[in-house]
Amino acid sequence: MKFPLYLDNHSTTPMDPRVLETMLPYFVEKFGNAASRNHAFGWEAEEAVEQARKQIARLIHADSKEIVFTSGATESDNLAIKGVMEMYREKGDHIITCLTEHRAVLDTAKALEAKKGIKVTYLPVDKTGRVNPDDVRNAITEKTILISIMMANNEIGTINPVKEIGKIAKEKGILFHCDATQGVGKIPVDVQEMGIDLMAFTAHKIYGPKGVGALYVRKKAPRVRIAPLIDGGGHERGMRSGTLPVPLIVGFGKACELCEQEMPTESVRLAALRDRLQAGILKSLDEVYLNGHPTQRLPHNLNLSFAYVEGESLLMGVKEIALSSGSACTSATLEPSYVLRALGVGSDLAHSSIRFGLGRFNSEEEIDYTITRIIQIVNKLREMSPLYEMAKEGIDLKTVQWAAH
Ligand SMILES: *Cc1c(COP(=O)(O)O)cnc(C)c1O
Repeated sequence: MKFPLYLDNHSTTPMDPRVLETMLPYFVEKFGNAASRNHAFGWEAEEAVEQARKQIARLIHADSKEIVFTSGATESDNLAIKGVMEMYREKGDHIITCLTEHRAVLDTAKALEAKKGIKVTYLPVDKTGRVNPDDVRNAITEKTILISIMMANNEIGTINPVKEIGKIAKEKGILFHCDATQGVGKIPVDVQEMGIDLMAFTAHKIYGPKGVGALYVRKKAPRVRIAPLIDGGGHERGMRSGTLPVPLIVGFGKACELCEQEMPTESVRLAALRDRLQAGILKSLDEVYLNGHPTQRLPHNLNLSFAYVEGESLLMGVKEIALSSGSACTSATLEPSYVLRALGVGSDLAHSSIRFGLGRFNSEEEIDYTITRIIQIVNKLREMSPLYEMAKEGIDLKTVQWAAH
């Protein structure tokens, strides 16, 4: 095993060496600008970009002409939401999203509320983190022009009923944007079957390079139009100007091709490793709670709350394993995750949560090591916890009268 172990694959993934290999010639030898129409350097770059576009489109069952390259999913989310708002503003001023979206969507929605007078409905989720399609239907008004609901959550891995939501959007003639950053490459994604009109995703979460993403923009039934965020040379059919980062795009394409080929076996292998991790921990520790959905979740995600243990202390105790806690370290305070809060997880258990994000390069040996270490550190921290001791003695902590100091 090579330390530190990496179990934070929802944040980013290491690049697959096969991806790097396909990228390398495009830095020095094949350096052309894909927009240069007059010579072989440009043609070569353009050909490479178009091949990558096909590889990317194939993975999501789209046409290559429906792929717009961006700098990542944050930009794609911004482009989709702001682009639709600007283009369809005369039709309405209301968008529907949900409380557990990534900040790339939430902060975009908030900015539109504050600066553009857009009205936003933030739908709740159930205790497993799923949006109820009936809530989507009921939130629709005459002024609704966009529904933006994520495919799979980046903290708890819960997969939303995207197909049902897509169907409702179609029925009502409203555009449906989906942040599929955590879903693409991990679970089967089909923009036709799912009724998706716009979809954001990114290379660095699927073993590709950082700094490149895509927005899928439906071309027919309906033909979606979006206003650009960036004006310039009219690249990407006017939706996103700027010289294309050819090496990154080539890597993105290869990463998608590998996901397409390996997803059937990889998702089964990772789900088995994840289940082994979950079972190994739950077998030896009491008062450990699963956050998210027991079955409708990403195969490589596990989010657990360890009662009576601070997530941050747990992370400090296992520094040789890269993990994430459910508390977002802001400047002064330690805020519990807004995703866990939306699920109704109490503040204590939210502060006790740890996200395990497995990936392509994790081995069974690494998972077994992690199980052993997590059990050790949780036991140690609980031994030092008077609250845990009292709870074990059968004292109901809710009835305790705490003395004020
Ligand atoms: C990582 C992530 C993003 C942001 O992607 P970048 O390419 O890093 O901008 C957006 N949405 C979700 C759900 C993510 O997990």
